[in-house]
Amino acid sequence: MQAFTHHTPTEIIFGKASENKAAELVKKYHGSRVFVVYGGGSVKRTGLLQRVTETLEKADLQVETIGGVKPNPRLDFAREAVKKAIEFNADFILAVGGGSVIDTAKAVSHGVANPDTDIWEFWSRKKPLQKTLPVGVILTLAAAGSETSDSAVLTNTEIQVKRGLGTDLNRPEFAIMNPELTYTLPKYQVGCGIVDIMMHTLDRYFTKTKGNQLTDEIAEGLLRTVIANGRIAIKDSHNYDSMSEIMWCGSISHNGLTGLGAEKDFAPHQLGHELSAKFDIAHGASLSAVWGAWAEYSYVEDVDRFVRFADKVWGISGDNKEEVARKAINATVNYFKSLDMPTCFSEAPEIGIKTDDELWAMADGCSYQNTRTIGSFRVLNKEDIFNVYKLANK
Ligand code: NAP
Ligand code: FE
Repeated sequence: MQAFTHHTPTEIIFGKASENKAAELVKKYHGSRVFVVYGGGSVKRTGLLQRVTETLEKADLQVETIGGVKPNPRLDFAREAVKKAIEFNADFILAVGGGSVIDTAKAVSHGVANPDTDIWEFWSRKKPLQKTLPVGVILTLAAAGSETSDSAVLTNTEIQVKRGLGTDLNRPEFAIMNPELTYTLPKYQVGCGIVDIMMHTLDRYFTKTKGNQLTDEIAEGLLRTVIANGRIAIKDSHNYDSMSEIMWCGSISHNGLTGLGAEKDFAPHQLGHELSAKFDIAHGASLSAVWGAWAEYSYVEDVDRFVRFADKVWGISGDNKEEVARKAINATVNYFKSLDMPTCFSEAPEIGIKTDDELWAMADGCSYQNTRTIGSFRVLNKEDIFNVYKLANK
């Protein structure tokens, strides 16, 4: 068995009406001046924001709000929010929304705790992050898993770079998860969420550091659960049981449990981030658009791993390993299609078909101007990245 460290301190409050516990939880984690972060307005339309702020105020907490976080959240907006939170003298940041809102809330917490540092210094690795403010989450979208993850992703539009920051200081204090709050999601966002949840496990599962049996079994069980419930949820976002399973899978998929002891790959995520930085495509769609191409390019590295994936996740077996591996890749791609998610560039209107020059420019961006490789299952340099984009460019 491979050695590992597992640190997932976030308190989970799961179930109907759990958002009513927001004030109690903020107090438990020593908040008194609560800076509430939300997105483009879905939480206003559903009345959730008003209910939450009223609950907080009734409990004698001071509340300030900021709305307007966009999907693929922007560094500029986070910087503005940091200023406002400092003026308010915030001691607690509460995210009400999906991954973009949560990641912005994490950025604000780092900015307020380090008022003399521009937050991009942390994302660009110029300065190590050493302290932050507590963050709480009321989740409205099962996808990113940011409610328990150690990561936060921001887009710097000035230089067209989308970048994640991984640190345990990104782990929220609590995550309130009421599946009913996700009923209002458009079908497209349900699809994007299912893909992202699958990908957080797939990007860990396809690794060369094998040896933790339970980790593999958890990963495979999680994938089977998301796939089965995704089939229901994509048709009926008001199905409590399916939306619940997907929501819980979202957290478990990205809190580390499905990759304990394994070296993470995450190449599809890096390939997708470049697409989001350049074309502002939704995160889940960026992943489904490249995964099939990545798998086709990479499975030869360890065909047996794909054969196991075929058997345990899709129930596919056979004598010819190559054929079984390819069938599993097709099953995954076809599943994404069944969710109406793009599986190549022409199926994503934001991307469209690209010229080779454009693909090289994307490969340049994704490889940080040829200064890094991505992935570990198959290590991809700039030329490999170009080759994967080329396979997806159909
Ligand atoms: P999102 O960008 O937070 O939200 C997508 C859309 O869904 C928004 O337009 C939002 O509208 C809407 N929405 C959210 N909840 C809704 C609800 N209950 N009803 C109706 N509409 C709702 O989506 P996401 O997939 O959760 O987050 C994506 C971001 O997270 C990407 O930037 C991705 O790179 C990042 N990410 C982070 C991690 C991590 O660990 N930190 C991991 C993976 C991905 P409103 O804005 O109006 O609310
Ligand atoms: Fe993701």
